[in-house]
Amino acid sequence: MKKKTFPRGIHPPEDKHNTEASPLETLAPPDKVVIPLHQHFGAPAKALVKKGDEVLLGQKIGEGPVLFSACVHSSVSGKVLSVDGYPHPMGKPVTAVTVSNDGEDRPAPEIQAENAPFSLGPDEIRRMVKEAGIVGLGGAAFPTAVKLNPPKDKPIDTVILNGCECEPLLTADHRVMLEYPDEVINGAELVRIATGARRIIVGIEDNKPDVYEMFSRRSYPFEVEFAVLKTKYPQGAEKNLIAALLKREVPRGGLPFDVGVVVQNVGTAKAVWEAVSEGKPLYERALTVSGTGISNPKNLMVRIGTPFRHIIDHCGGAKEGSNLVVMGGPMMGLAQWTAEVPVIKGTSGILVWAETRPAREYSCIGCMRCVGHCPMGLVPTRLMKFVKYDALAEAESAGILDCVECGSCQFSCPARIPLVHWIRLGKNKIISEKRKKSA
Ligand code: SF4
Ligand code: SF4
Repeated sequence: MKKKTFPRGIHPPEDKHNTEASPLETLAPPDKVVIPLHQHFGAPAKALVKKGDEVLLGQKIGEGPVLFSACVHSSVSGKVLSVDGYPHPMGKPVTAVTVSNDGEDRPAPEIQAENAPFSLGPDEIRRMVKEAGIVGLGGAAFPTAVKLNPPKDKPIDTVILNGCECEPLLTADHRVMLEYPDEVINGAELVRIATGARRIIVGIEDNKPDVYEMFSRRSYPFEVEFAVLKTKYPQGAEKNLIAALLKREVPRGGLPFDVGVVVQNVGTAKAVWEAVSEGKPLYERALTVSGTGISNPKNLMVRIGTPFRHIIDHCGGAKEGSNLVVMGGPMMGLAQWTAEVPVIKGTSGILVWAETRPAREYSCIGCMRCVGHCPMGLVPTRLMKFVKYDALAEAESAGILDCVECGSCQFSCPARIPLVHWIRLGKNKIISEKRKKSA
């Protein structure tokens, strides 16, 4: 079988062997969960509860006030201890609802099964997905209801399910596909109905032959195609996936909508199915705990709001000398300053690293390796220099906003220049300047 791929990219060590064969284990929720009201791309949710309120499992505790937002739900039943600022894994403190867990998991009455999910229309599916607080679970946490609502002048013909999980070490999506195949494929069909697409393609990297074989053996009441992709990083970036599977190029500054495509992560598809068929809000997710500093690497199903510390302890604790905790994968993940931060909807992994030391940085030698590996066709060394010298207009015209922050440039740089840090800084400055102007 011909394996598809995209131009450029890199081959970092995969290191998935520690957990790829470990089934998802359900972690009992802790005595107390901390649920941030901002866990997604867009506006924060507005609190619907106050200190002292009783809440139920799956009860809506934060309202997504606009389309570019997401509702937030309690991941346990119990009492609200506070609604206050709390450390957040994305950096800045965020208002969070802290709930003491009564251990009873009393469900909210609005969690009701829907008997005929495939007979629902697009508007109803979108409404249920928005109410359930579903966001992209691949890490970007983009509100799914927005993706299910393409502009009228941009008809969608294809839904791509992203089963690549191209970040090294992470294997939770791999396990979700193996252990919840019906939920994943049924969710894809709901996405197809909501977007009006004709075709569903599931893209799977060739380092997961068990997933491809399992999906190929099963029968489905609707049409689904499965495609094998070469294992290469960042195969799972939306634009790369579209280029590999459909040979369509998303224009600079554009979105998959522009080429008739909607891309969803496999875990998101499962969440969509559970939201529509069971009425289940997004209050738990699958994630991988791994890295050289963790005693027992695992794949876990974890309630949103569980502190990283609780999860690390459940995995046997950090090994002596470990000094770095990262949320996400090793390429795109974010280093944490405290392990007290809670799991949010975008937490695809928790990595613990033993004895890391900052790499010494050298001057750029002009080797252009960063250019040769950038999947977006950018010139990272130039972007870095523009940001360094505050030439933000030049950085913007050189395409800095198209950078997906995959880290391929930094990984291949022999001078160990923190290219992504510079690019991220430049992007943040440009975006906040634009926000100020539009406000
Ligand atoms: S410039 Fe951005 S998109 Fe290109 S390799 Fe670097 S991080 Fe990835
Ligand atoms: S890879 Fe590093 S050293 Fe080479 S051109 Fe890019 S920034 Fe300079």
